Amino acid sequence: MTVNRRFLLTRRPHGVPVPDDFQLAEEAVPQPGEGEFVVRTIYASLDPAMRGWLDDVPSYMPPIPLGDAVRASVVGRVAASRDPAFPEGAWVSGLGAIEEYSVARSGGFMRRIDPDAVPSPSNYLSVLGAVGMTAYFGVTDVLAAKPGQTLLVSGAAGAVGSLVGQIGKIIGCRTIGIAGSPEKVRRLTQDYGYDVAIDYRGKDRAALEAEIHAAAPNGVDLVFENVGGDILDAALTNLADHATVALCGMISEYNSPEKIGARNVWQLIVHRATIRGFLVSDYLPRFEEGIGTMAGWLGEGRLRVDEHIDRGIENALPAFLRLFEGTNEGKMILQVGEA
Ligand code: NAP
Repeated sequence: MTVNRRFLLTRRPHGVPVPDDFQLAEEAVPQPGEGEFVVRTIYASLDPAMRGWLDDVPSYMPPIPLGDAVRASVVGRVAASRDPAFPEGAWVSGLGAIEEYSVARSGGFMRRIDPDAVPSPSNYLSVLGAVGMTAYFGVTDVLAAKPGQTLLVSGAAGAVGSLVGQIGKIIGCRTIGIAGSPEKVRRLTQDYGYDVAIDYRGKDRAALEAEIHAAAPNGVDLVFENVGGDILDAALTNLADHATVALCGMISEYNSPEKIGARNVWQLIVHRATIRGFLVSDYLPRFEEGIGTMAGWLGEGRLRVDEHIDRGIENALPAFLRLFEGTNEGKMILQVGEA
């Protein structure tokens, strides 16, 4: 190991990221300091939340410094170590970056994983990673879903939404998914078991409200919100009394300098409803529980997991930009190195 190829943030994007905001650089492979280890990246996760880390604004994580590699959740193997708990060759998962080698320490998200316990180690970035834990704790804890409740999910064909719908069905909910193309709508019912699928593209807010109403005439008990904007507004006009809205993401606003905001907040009062934002990192102490349950469902064939894997760090730029097109069919992952 001599060269470390790194996908750097060189300029803060304005709106949708463009190629000139990034650069692929070659640097020396880092060495571990006392208590540190070097991770050779095998898979890097590409997540919509990374858009927020590119901006120099207050958030739940510090902005990525200009000139630094783009932060990402990764799966990799220890290449050199000065921490006996993370010996050379061990498989790990945690917060790293889109680069071939990263320096890491134990703690936080970084932990050892068993690659033989899953069909592919990349699963630790999808169903058994932050995406899977977001869906699991969002449905079971934030929404506290119960059998017989109606669950409405936006971004329903995405990495999180596809799992949310399936977990909802396992619990015994009636599930309604919203997505943005005829093909995605087909996948919602056929692949992810949604009871009703709604295509929002080409529809104004009133039409979308009417479709949700037709699918749930008595209102929805639970909303898992990934998108925000008009889709959240349409959900708010269809709440059942004492409904719960889990605010997971607002992807429709991530690239827009002007925030749209929710206009139907009054409906929360009308229906004595609760809206709660949450971060998957809050559930870090309970990850083993969530991973155990999701791994069990996966092993029993009760969860379908779709991954869209691009290969080669030289393809980091097109893969990263595709994240904002909404055209991916499954969890977006970049394979940076070989196992
Ligand atoms: P994903 O796989 O990329 O799916 C997101 C989907 O959102 C897209 O497939 C697209 O589907 C839809 N979408 C709607 N408006 C969009 C826009 N303007 N640009 C791009 N896509 C748009 O993402 P994910 O990993 O499932 O993440 C879903 C949401 O969960 C995001 O908001 C993310 O930030 C959030 N999240 C939150 C946490 C947390 O801790 N709170 C953790 C993980 C993820 P359509 O074509 O159907 O519109």
